[in-house]
Amino acid sequence: MPISVSVKTGTRIEMIDITAKVQEEVSKMGTQDGMCVVYVPHTTAGITINEGADPAVCKDILTKLNELVPAGAGYRHLEGNADSHIKASLMGSSVLVLIENGRLVLGTWQKIFFCEFDGPRSRKVALKIQ
Ligand code: ZN
Repeated sequence: MPISVSVKTGTRIEMIDITAKVQEEVSKMGTQDGMCVVYVPHTTAGITINEGADPAVCKDILTKLNELVPAGAGYRHLEGNADSHIKASLMGSSVLVLIENGRLVLGTWQKIFFCEFDGPRSRKVALKIQ
């Protein structure tokens, strides 16, 4: 059974740093050397690793995604959230992070971001730590 982590989102489109939550679960498991798959079981949310030091980076990513895939641009999907599905696919639904000495192996500026594209909602992120 994968570990389930809850993420509450507050707006339609946003990126939420979940690095600390993932590290907490890795620490609880006590895995010293291994890997952690972070998987998003949703069709209108995604996950990515990118810069967490300057919040402007996330803003730029979201602004550009909105430019590339605007809402309500004549899509066929009847639910009205086709842009959310497309953005989710562009970001992807999983990342794999290595674990060394009990810590996630991330670059100095890297953070793991949950990407909400059809919020606000209560979301789940599945973790498999081995
Ligand atoms: Zn839909």
